[in-house]
Amino acid sequence: MKSKPHIAVIGAGAFGGWTALHLLERGARVTLLDAWGPGNSRSSSGGETRVMRGTYGPDQPYTQMAARALKLWQKYERRWKRQFLHRTGVLWMAPAHDDAFERGSVKTLRAAKIKFQELSSPQMKKRWPQIDFEGIEWGIFEPECGYLDARASCQAVVEAFTAAGGKYRQLAVLPDGLEDTPLRGIAVSDGSRLKADRYVFACGPWLGKLFPQAVGNLVQPTKQDIFFFGTPPGDDRFSDRHLPVWGDHRGRFRYGIPGALTGDARRGFKIADDTRGPAFDPTSGERAIDPETLRDIREYGDSRLPVRTNARQSFHHRPPSNARKRVDRRWRLRPRLQARSRSRRDDGGIGLGPARGRCDISAG
Ligand SMILES: Cc1cc2nc3c(=O)[nH]c(=O)nc-3n(C[C@H](O)[C@H](O)[C@H](O)COP(=O)(O)OP(=O)(O)OC[C@H]3O[C@@H](n4cnc5c(N)ncnc54)[C@H](O)[C@@H]3O)c2cc1C
Repeated sequence: MKSKPHIAVIGAGAFGGWTALHLLERGARVTLLDAWGPGNSRSSSGGETRVMRGTYGPDQPYTQMAARALKLWQKYERRWKRQFLHRTGVLWMAPAHDDAFERGSVKTLRAAKIKFQELSSPQMKKRWPQIDFEGIEWGIFEPECGYLDARASCQAVVEAFTAAGGKYRQLAVLPDGLEDTPLRGIAVSDGSRLKADRYVFACGPWLGKLFPQAVGNLVQPTKQDIFFFGTPPGDDRFSDRHLPVWGDHRGRFRYGIPGALTGDARRGFKIADDTRGPAFDPTSGERAIDPETLRDIREYGDSRLPVRTNARQSFHHRPPSNARKRVDRRWRLRPRLQARSRSRRDDGGIGLGPARGRCDISAG
């Protein structure tokens, strides 16, 4: 009888964890290693939440992967009897004269059979009166997408992997000799060597350092700050019961995730700017926020999602300046923050994890 191939997967983030699980389910013997653990705070997958979407613009492979990943999230959530994908819907706001991203997405969403609606500005205003749609002409709404519990889902994948007989070890792979051909084992941080038949390196922003010749600057980690805001006590208009995830491409790409009403991650309401930040070392970089970015995000939040104090006020106009000052103070109540590193390479994102593992297998 042919023995099982032994595959070592290095990195237990969204991509490595799912790859290891799928390989195991396909009959391989799998050892999974991670320097700091699945969903650790240095990793790209280590945030509280991440957006799961199908809209990625024209001519890209991610929408098809998202369609497959949506099915896999459903399958594994049922199997594990746990929810990680919160299907709040994702709303893309398209400005009148700069909507190539959204226009291009319509075709790819249709081809991938991801459900979506095209909404006019009046339809959006009626449905989400807590959002100020100034400058927005139309939108795409993906009702079956939403946000993921990022860190928690990475940890659950590794729990499922070990429960199914996979071997997980918290060890760092050392860069020594990794680019030798053939690769005869890898050196790990406890001084031992690990030998396998095949190796999968899913080390996200660390890949360039581990493989300076093969990868090098193709992966350039940068720093981006993300912010969590508190809303007025008892006001759930900005919670995931009433607000979708949204993406806003006007000028720069900012996005938001509503606050969770249930579950572990009640961190408040998240807003982030997807613009690539300065170069960053994912191991030793200082994870302090940039005050400029905080100021910009507050201004953006105040204008796009004003916490209106007067329910009778027209939703089409901003509140008068004195009301606006009150709004500002409320936004300043409890900002929380996270800083993360991200590679310049666009990998499509964490939501594609289940489908990414599948791709890795078929490619191998
Ligand atoms: C701020 C921010 C916001 C984002 N928002 C979204 C979003 O809303 N939606 C979305 O889909 N995507 C989003 N992304 C992208 C998404 O998070 C990433 O695409 C995804 O998490 C990448 O996963 P990964 O497994 O490739 O990398 P990582 O999660 O970084 O995993 C790599 C793993 O490798 C381990 N490792 C590194 N070096 C070694 C070594 N030498 N030995 C052993 N282990 C090692 C690390 O500890 C880590 O756990 C965001 C990313 C960032 C940074």
